Amino acid sequence: MAPHRVVVIGSGFGGLFGTQALKRRDDIEVTLVAKTTHHLFQPLLYQVATGILSEGAIAPTTREILHRQKNARVILGTVTGIDLEAKTVTSDVLGRQTVTPFDTLLVAAGAGQSYFGNDQFAEYAPGMKSIDDALELRGRIFGAFEWAELATSPAERDRYLTFVVVGAGPTGVEMAGQIAELAQRTLNRDFKTIDTRQARILLLDAAPQVLQAFGDRLGDAAKRRLTEMGVDVELGTKVVGVDSTGIDIEKADGSHARIEAATKVWAAGVQGSELGAMLADQSDAELDRAGRVKVNPDLTLPGRPDVYVVGDMAALDNLPGVAQVAIQGARYAAKHLKARLDDKPAPEAFSYFDKGSMATISRFSAVASVGKLRFSGFLAWVLWLGIHIVYLIGFKQRITTLLHWMVSFIGRGRSERTVTAQQILARNIMRKLPPEDLPRLPLVESDHAAPVAAPEPTDSVPSTDERLRRAT
Ligand SMILES: Cc1cc2nc3c(=O)[nH]c(=O)nc-3n(C[C@H](O)[C@H](O)[C@H](O)COP(=O)(O)OP(=O)(O)OC[C@H]3O[C@@H](n4cnc5c(N)ncnc54)[C@H](O)[C@@H]3O)c2cc1C
Repeated sequence: MAPHRVVVIGSGFGGLFGTQALKRRDDIEVTLVAKTTHHLFQPLLYQVATGILSEGAIAPTTREILHRQKNARVILGTVTGIDLEAKTVTSDVLGRQTVTPFDTLLVAAGAGQSYFGNDQFAEYAPGMKSIDDALELRGRIFGAFEWAELATSPAERDRYLTFVVVGAGPTGVEMAGQIAELAQRTLNRDFKTIDTRQARILLLDAAPQVLQAFGDRLGDAAKRRLTEMGVDVELGTKVVGVDSTGIDIEKADGSHARIEAATKVWAAGVQGSELGAMLADQSDAELDRAGRVKVNPDLTLPGRPDVYVVGDMAALDNLPGVAQVAIQGARYAAKHLKARLDDKPAPEAFSYFDKGSMATISRFSAVASVGKLRFSGFLAWVLWLGIHIVYLIGFKQRITTLLHWMVSFIGRGRSERTVTAQQILARNIMRKLPPEDLPRLPLVESDHAAPVAAPEPTDSVPSTDERLRRAT
């Protein structure tokens, strides 16, 4: 009998763990389609941005992770179309399209950054969702100190030495803490004209509390620690404008102010993957305000028992957008599917087991909430360290991460300070190009057959064959 074809979209926590949960089943054939060649451990992105870790340490290649799994194959491509009627997924890489049929679909395409309707901010305040984001921020942060060294007036120097982080959730707190450590400990002996310890680091949030999801006690502890480190925490503050030289804010009392700052980091707001709208258009599913797909209690798409949606792009019972929700959801979907194929009773509705949450503030200092326990300081940091090593994928990655952490946390160095012009300049140029001007593969016939015999692609982008026909 032909194997049951499962297509998994995304190589993040949901996609990877969902694929792995289907291993050792000869009757199942999994095709994982993702727009990057790597699995990304997002919780440590801020360490790539601030020079502690290399991108390879947190982004092992999906193909390598799955190479032993006999029933799984990996396809590179951005999913541009899902046709629930024809049961196909269309993906595109540099103009080459592939159409992959499925019997069951597992969608784990995650979430992107939300600028709350102000997407123009992205050019000046990169978010923190991808390796590209982290490397661009690395270039901007280390570059700002270089420009400050060259400044010809105190105002210019101060602008380069002012760093604004928007969003006081875990990522914002971690970024602000790390930039403060860079300025205070790592770079303070490297420059001759400027004193990096004079850098001003601001952490802004419209909410009245830092780390709101952790509760008042841990939020207060984090705020105290950040203040001790010299970070200005401004709460009840809304960002109303961002440009190349600064940021405009509206304070809680309604007054407006401008902060001159060369480096801005956006760590506020998420928006479910655009694939959510594609699924909602073709099913009974609705989207919530963050663009996430409201799924059934068994994580299937309303009206479509053959489609599961998991992780950051799914909305169920107000579950948080964290790695464990994606991992457990994907494993549940795999179990649900296997029960269906084996004609066994379906497992009970998905129930999330909350293992706790943590955020680091600086070296030797973190906050942790585990069950009823709330604690902060060194103990929380040691726990954070251990858990992150356990969950990092790959032995090589764990070893290199531990070595880099020794360099940065015990010593004062950072081994990943390399920045290139491409990290900022090329990315901004690409952002401004219309999609049709982005690099495409030349229109030559490939020696390789498309992985799956392709029916006519379902969206408006012409297939390689169609473009060949038009070109000849
Ligand atoms: C900076 C940061 C720090 C975080 N820190 C923590 C933390 O400390 N603890 C914690 O538990 N959680 C943390 N999270 C959240 C956690 O990383 C997410 O909840 C988790 O990654 C969600 O998994 P996912 O599989 O749903 O999505 P993701 O891991 O985001 O994976 C989505 C995948 O889909 C792919 N994809 C997207 N669109 C397409 C498309 N159109 N075509 C093909 N592929 C596509 C992406 O390339 C990616 O492979 C953090 C997130 C960020 C951004």
